[in-house]
Amino acid sequence: MDSYIAHVKRARTLIRRHEFRVKKKLGQHFMVSPRVLQRIIELAEIQPEDRVLEIGPGLGALTQFLAEKAQQVVAVEIDTTLLPLLRETLAGYPQVQVVQGDILQVNLDEVMQAAKGSALEVNSQYKVVGNLPYYITSPIVMKVLEGGYQIGNLVMLVQKEVAQRMAAKPATKEYGLLSVAVQFYAEVYCGGEVPRDAFWPQPEVESALVKLVPRKEPPVKVIDRPFFFWVARAAFGQRRKTLLNALVGAPGPFKLNREEVESHLVNLNIDPRRRGETLNLAELAEVSNRLYPILGI
Ligand code: SAM
Repeated sequence: MDSYIAHVKRARTLIRRHEFRVKKKLGQHFMVSPRVLQRIIELAEIQPEDRVLEIGPGLGALTQFLAEKAQQVVAVEIDTTLLPLLRETLAGYPQVQVVQGDILQVNLDEVMQAAKGSALEVNSQYKVVGNLPYYITSPIVMKVLEGGYQIGNLVMLVQKEVAQRMAAKPATKEYGLLSVAVQFYAEVYCGGEVPRDAFWPQPEVESALVKLVPRKEPPVKVIDRPFFFWVARAAFGQRRKTLLNALVGAPGPFKLNREEVESHLVNLNIDPRRRGETLNLAELAEVSNRLYPILGI
């Protein structure tokens, strides 16, 4: 690599010359640590044949590291005023294509297929990598996981608390709906903390790396997915309530009868007085599968 884009002095010079204004509301904290970028490449296990979708390239610091290893990189950036800077920093990397757009709005398969006009072969995979804008971490992760895309892995730099919530075990204070939703679709690996001085400007929160490997099949069998997630949302919705009260009192679209729920929980050997947040994935699946038929749908 000639010279790193990930460098405070280089970032400052570039920004001044282009009269660019850093937008904190878009989560613009640029990576200035080649060591952390190298760690991301290793975690994502980027191979020469890989195609990578990068979320939010910023000044191109991570993009450069990806481009050095992968066959192709498609980077989706929302901020139009970053495009001239990216054209300059990534000029030597023809394998990179920058797409202007909101990652929450674009169709990921279409973006990857349109890249360089080369169709993504059936069953071929790509990897998703990003130093994410923290204000939309959960919607991005859920969009990628729920979309059922053919993704090898997803490696992200996120707020430390969010990484802990994704990886959390039942009955811990971090365990919640995000833990259930992410663990339903993927295996979660912690990639370690990242110091604040790895970013410029520095964020006000702690950061950590997390790797998700989408599962071929969910780890539990669920009759109806929307109802399973409704049960999970209900169980975690009001943390100080018992499971029974949480399920019966949860907002729609489903309405459950107290006596029926209680007897089904007892039949499942699940104490109705337990707190919802102590239920693991298997128990949530059991409860939702048992209650689904009584909805009469
Ligand atoms: N990857 C760069 C790096 O590591 O230095 C920049 C990371 S910065 C934390 C997040 C980037 O995501 C910013 O460039 C920001 O403009 C971009 N971004 C924010 N919201 C976005 C969205 N909805 N869609 C695409 N990019 C977005």
